[in-house]
This record gives sequence, C-alpha cells and structure tokens, in this order.
Amino acid sequence: MAQQVQEKYEESQLYKIRHSAAHIMAQAVLELFPDGKVTIGPPVENGFYYDFDLPRNLTPEDLEKIEKRMRGIIQGGFEFKKTIVSAEEARKIFANQPYKLELIDGLEKGGLDEYGEPLKDKPVISIYQQDTFTDLCRGPHVDNTRQIKPTAVKLMSVAGAYWRGDEKNKMLQRIYGTAWESEQQLKDYLWQLEEAKKRDHRKLGKELEIFIFDEEVGPGLPLWLPNGGVMIEELEKLAKETEDQAGYSRVRTPNLTKEDLFLRSGHLPYYAESMYPPMELEGVKYYVKPMNCPMHHKIFAAKPHSYRDLPIRLAEYGTCYRYEKSGELFGLMRVRSMQMNDAHLYCAEEQFEQEFMGVIALYHKYFKLFGIEKYIMRLSLHGKAGLGKKYVDNERLWIKTEDMVRRAMTNGNVPFVEVEDEAAFYGPKIDVQIWSAIGKEFTLATNQVDFAQPARFDLKFTNKEGNEEVPLCIHRAPLSTHERMIGFLIEHYAGNFPVWLCPEQVRVIPITDGQNEYAHQTVKQLREQGVRVSADVSAQRMNAKIRSAQLMKVPYMLVVGENEMKAGQVSLRVRDGSQQNNISLADFETRIKDRIAKRSSEL
Ligand SMILES: [Zn+2]
Ligand SMILES: [Zn+2]
Repeated sequence: MAQQVQEKYEESQLYKIRHSAAHIMAQAVLELFPDGKVTIGPPVENGFYYDFDLPRNLTPEDLEKIEKRMRGIIQGGFEFKKTIVSAEEARKIFANQPYKLELIDGLEKGGLDEYGEPLKDKPVISIYQQDTFTDLCRGPHVDNTRQIKPTAVKLMSVAGAYWRGDEKNKMLQRIYGTAWESEQQLKDYLWQLEEAKKRDHRKLGKELEIFIFDEEVGPGLPLWLPNGGVMIEELEKLAKETEDQAGYSRVRTPNLTKEDLFLRSGHLPYYAESMYPPMELEGVKYYVKPMNCPMHHKIFAAKPHSYRDLPIRLAEYGTCYRYEKSGELFGLMRVRSMQMNDAHLYCAEEQFEQEFMGVIALYHKYFKLFGIEKYIMRLSLHGKAGLGKKYVDNERLWIKTEDMVRRAMTNGNVPFVEVEDEAAFYGPKIDVQIWSAIGKEFTLATNQVDFAQPARFDLKFTNKEGNEEVPLCIHRAPLSTHERMIGFLIEHYAGNFPVWLCPEQVRVIPITDGQNEYAHQTVKQLREQGVRVSADVSAQRMNAKIRSAQLMKVPYMLVVGENEMKAGQVSLRVRDGSQQNNISLADFETRIKDRIAKRSSEL
C-alpha cells in the first residue's frame, strides 16, 4: 500500500448524516418546547450534539420522546433546502432566537462563523430548512431526510454546556446523539462503547493491581505496583533484545540538568510551558528533563566521529517529566512522569532511508507481536506560513527532509497519510495511530526527523572527503512510554495478557491443606525455571481460590489434590476455559516455557 489519501470527515456522507440528524433533533426539541431557544449543533467525532436553552431540565423520558419524533421526521421524507440570505433577512427569520441573532451579528461583521469560530473571510449567510425547522447553517446536509436510516440514530445523553464555552454565560443543555449509515454500524458502535467501559485501563489497572495514583504523590504521577513492575521489566527486556539485534547502544542520563542544556536545544524558552519550573541552587537553575535528546546529543559529541562510525544509535528508557494541565491528565494516557522507549539515531544523509526503515521494521515487529492489525502513520509536514515562527526557517531543508521520509515510506510500502502544518519545530514527524482489538483508536508514539538540533549542538562527523558534516538525527519510540503502552495493552487485551507479559503466570491451588506442602514444592520447581508462580494456601475453598485466580486473569491454574500429589502430577485449568487433568509437571513446564520463549499469544 503506498500513500493513501484519507477522506476528510467534513466531506463524508457520515458527516452529512450527523449534521442533518442534529437539525432533525432541534426540530423535535422545538416541537416539545415551542419557546425553546436553539444555539448551535455541529457533528462531532462519532456523532453530533445540539445546545438548547429550555424552560426546564430534560428528563430521560424527554430524550425517548425526542428520539421517537426524530424517527417520524426522518420517515417524512423532507428535503434539506439551502437558501442564501442577507443578514437582514436572517434576522427576520430568527427574530425569536436571540442566540442565532448573536451569531448573525458575528457573521455579518465577519470573523466568526455560524458556530462562533474564527473565520478568515466574511462568509455568505445561508440557511437550511427541513419540514418546519430552519437553521442558520452552511451545510453540508443530506438531500432528503430519507437518506438517514431511522434505526441508525440514537440519542446518548444530556450534559450542561455554557454558551460559547464561557462560564460567565448561561448554562445550556446539550443533547448528544450518534448516527451511522446503517443499523449494524450503530450496534457495533454501542457494543464498542460498552466493551471499552469494561476494558478501561483505569478500572482494570486497579483491579489487576498494576498501578495507582496517590493524592500525596500528585496527579499524573503513577505508582507502579509489583504487577506493573513485572510488565515494565518484560517490555524493557523486549526492547533491549530487539534493539541489541538492531545495533543500538544503551546509555544512561540524569533526570536533572542545568538550564544551559535546554537553552542550547531551544526547548527554553519555547517549550517552557510544558516543563516543570526550575529549581535554583548556588545561583544555577536546574530542570527535570522533559526529553532525553539533548543529553544523547552530548553523548554523541563526547568524541570525534568518522563516517565509518555511523550510524550511531543511542537508546535509553529515559524518565521524562512534562507539565500537563490538570484538566488534560487522563489515566496512564496523559501523565506528568513517563518512561520512554527512547533512542536517537545519528546518520549521514545517504544512510537515512535505511535507518528510517529500520525503525519502521521495529514498529512492524511490535505490531505483529501484540496483534495490532490496524494502524496508520501520519506524516506531519511544515506549513510555509510558519517558517521562522513555528518551524525552523529553512524551507529547502524542510522540503528535502519531507521528501526523504515520503520516499522511504513509499519504498517500504508503509501506509501513511500526509498532514500539512503539523510538524515539530525542527523537522517532519510521523505520528503512529493504532487501533485496539475492539477498534478503539490510540496515538502510540511519534517519530521525528531532526535536521536542526544536531547543528545547534554542533554535532559533526568527518565524511569520506575528509570534510566535516552535520549528521541527521531520528528520534524514535516504537514502544511509546511505559505509561501509554501499558494503558493500551490493558485495554487491547482486556487484561488477558499473553503469558510472557502476565505478572502472575501460574497459580497453584491445593484442594485441601493436605496438599499445601506439595503446592509449595511445585512453586519452587517452576520458579527455578523462571516462571512467575504462587500458591494459594489460604483457608478458602477450592472454588473460591479458582475464582480469585480468574479475577486476576492468571493464564494457568494448577489444581492439586490427593490423587495429583500421589502421582506427582497436576490438573491444568487454562484461562480460556480448557482443562487437562493429571498431567506431569514436566509436560506443563515444556508448554509454558515454549509460550514464554516465543512470546506467544497462544495459551
Ligand atoms: Zn447546521
Ligand atoms: Zn528525542
């Protein structure tokens, strides 16, 4: 698959359906509350909403009624008619709708669109009408309400929202709805929502004792419990093995550095808002690091390099600290301390494609390992207007580097889309979007091609001709941060991790106290083989012991009773429900060691 062009949501049929559903909902609401005031109602991701100023609070019964009426309107087969009007005419049409009058003023003056969002040009005012309802709107819409499937529309919830998002304004009632092209799509979406709730990493992470947050430690600063500690170790082992094979070298750098380093890198002052404030000692300011790159650059610069030494690949699971606003923190996905699968690859220009594709190969290896089937890479390019402001002022280098990345992706058959004006300050970046087993989207990691920082750090190597040359630098983190990766893996697997990644791989369950000693022996024997195993010698009955192992999603339970003990065997109960009675421990050992060694997804 070469370069893809993603259809813009704003131009899709789904967008028209949702936008039209919002208008239909507004009609139904106004029929129920003839004195109600309408404000705005745009399509959003997965659905639409509309904000109303109504004489009383909406009840769940109201929502049912509104939804039912919407189906009636849809089946009425009404056309969506667009008319261009003057501001004068618009004011007459919306004489009883004060919020619309305010929006018309904005449109007339220019500068704001019908949603109150900033606009460059003075817009043409248009209205859309279906049946009895008219809205100030630039579209687009379906041609006829019949193009919407009445069974593919559902109202979801009501929430409070301030007019224009400003808390000084009146609180409105926002109805959220969802609409799809078919009833099946709607069903799939509702299933996914339900399933996502069950898989929520914040909920499962607590139940499976993987991580916690503590108020005295601080928001966005996760504490990893022993189970989380095991997963982190396993991911680092995976990264280390993979990177060793790919010719990386491992380095270690401090969490704290002088201000000078970030002044040189350019993070200060531009990135200061995302950094923790400095601490001052003996007249020197120190920062906790928001990224590892500057220190890796220093390591590269620690000795002179010839072209023969390149590429040099420096890797570190570095802990970084970034100041995310409290309102933006979200479980493990948005945190303030993060351990990053970081590396910086320094190479000559002619080595770029091979190095870049080497990084992509790591992604593919990890995608395969974790059963990630859907992913897309988004290549973010510079915007001409931002040169010298948002972006390093060197258009020639931008175009050249972007071409290099594009060529590498195309040659490597990597699916990607391009987005203008979204690059990093010092070079184009590739955002990696992945979808979990239930189709939920995650942003995993970002790769960056950097043609500016190496020069700022005065990095160089001697080329074949004996001249000094500045290397390119690729920043990459295919396993993202532990925080984001484990958050994703929890939801992707719903906590049913593959054996190699499971904090507890085996639980031995003696049926009575009479087998406790045998259970301990079994544990000892498996531990010597490197298996993570424990015995449940609590006073609980066997079924309760099985239940608690199931709750922790332990892949293998070894039940041992009198008979198993006498025969020196175990009875195996697997997480998938299968069972195998009276097998030798040696056979079980062979099975589990094979799964672990291959990092198999099979049980
Ligand atoms: Zn509209
Ligand atoms: Zn970096």
